[in-house]
Amino acid sequence: LHIKGRDRKLKLTIFNSELKQIIFMNQFDNFFQEALSKREEEGFRRKLTPIDVASSVQIQVQGQKYLNFSSNDYLGLSFHPELLQKSQECVAKYGTGSAASRLITGHTSCHQAIETQLAQFLGTEAALVFASGWQANVAVIACLIENLPKPVYVITDKLNHASLHYGCKAGQGKQIRFRHNDMNHLQQRLDSLKDLDGSKLIITETIFSMDGDQADLKSLRRLADEHYAFLFLDDAHATGVLGAQGQGLAPTYADLTMGTFSKAWGSFGAYIAGSKALCDWLVNFCSGFIHTTSLPPAVNGSIAASLELMPLLDKERAYLKQRWQYVKQQLSLWGINTGDTVSQIIPLIVGSAENALEITKLLKQEKLWVMPIRPPTVPAHSSRLRLTLSAAHQSKDIEYLLDKINILIKQKPSLWKSR
Ligand code: PMP
Repeated sequence: LHIKGRDRKLKLTIFNSELKQIIFMNQFDNFFQEALSKREEEGFRRKLTPIDVASSVQIQVQGQKYLNFSSNDYLGLSFHPELLQKSQECVAKYGTGSAASRLITGHTSCHQAIETQLAQFLGTEAALVFASGWQANVAVIACLIENLPKPVYVITDKLNHASLHYGCKAGQGKQIRFRHNDMNHLQQRLDSLKDLDGSKLIITETIFSMDGDQADLKSLRRLADEHYAFLFLDDAHATGVLGAQGQGLAPTYADLTMGTFSKAWGSFGAYIAGSKALCDWLVNFCSGFIHTTSLPPAVNGSIAASLELMPLLDKERAYLKQRWQYVKQQLSLWGINTGDTVSQIIPLIVGSAENALEITKLLKQEKLWVMPIRPPTVPAHSSRLRLTLSAAHQSKDIEYLLDKINILIKQKPSLWKSR
């Protein structure tokens, strides 16, 4: 064997005296392996599970069917006949890829129509579609920090989504965190910057992804105005579900709204909505808009169909709201800590990662799919089951879930103690 390269170690796997595998470990692989082993020891190692097929209500894994309570398909649109049809029509007509970025040949009449109609729907001057919510957050926040008058102070909620933190890191802004949803603390943070030159950017979520609770939007707007700060709101979990016709919560309050098509809209991709000046500026300055291939036809088709449907889904939204209120009420009655949720995201906070894993396992045995969320995604000692409801869940699905949870609480009360 001829081994090239520095510090390469050879790892052979031999079964029944037959050589099955040769792995070359270089110093980087050693580093990766050590980090993984540490995660394993801490009990936080993540692993991918291949899913056969998943809808908002049902999930099939390795041939086994489960009721799905871990999907973000909050309105059950990802299998809606109109989304399927429009998506297929677009593929047949325009192909599977858009093959260029927006400023080259990737800006089709379909992108244009979606953005115009979306802005009308949201009540903003303009809107732009992006590749994904994660990508939009990172790209746009970095762009704002890089270009606004310096220094740029980025004031963020402690529990903001990872992509919002990454945007701050990518732009190398001065990040200052305030305690979760604590407007007094935010005010203190802003007061401490009062006499300083530069720009202030407040970044938070409307409905928080892991807790389902809501930001104090009126206070955020007031504080942003008083301190001449720009208010960036991530509406990923409110869009489609909350607001008069599913417009979400952010457009009324934010200078910039980020919303996703990947959750209640049943599709993929994201949008930025706000003033025309802001959107035109992003087209000119935002690398994450300029230097990436535009959304493909299949995705455009389903977004366009969703956009038509969204104003007509009041009944589904009202049903979903009634369901989450009911589920939260029942769980609270049984002493489960569901935090301050006011949405379809209901955390069952159990404290230790082991308890969360064990409950997930036991619910799986009852054909229920409710995924655990552990640190570092959530703070230490706040591991939870993140229960998400969809308008497509029927009452019998929800009763079945509650029944099984209730039995488990009685059988194993110690698993549910929140620290
Ligand atoms: N923001 C928040 C608050 C989210 O929860 C998520 C998705 N987990 C994103 C942004 C990223 O959206 P996407 O999945 O479309 O990339």
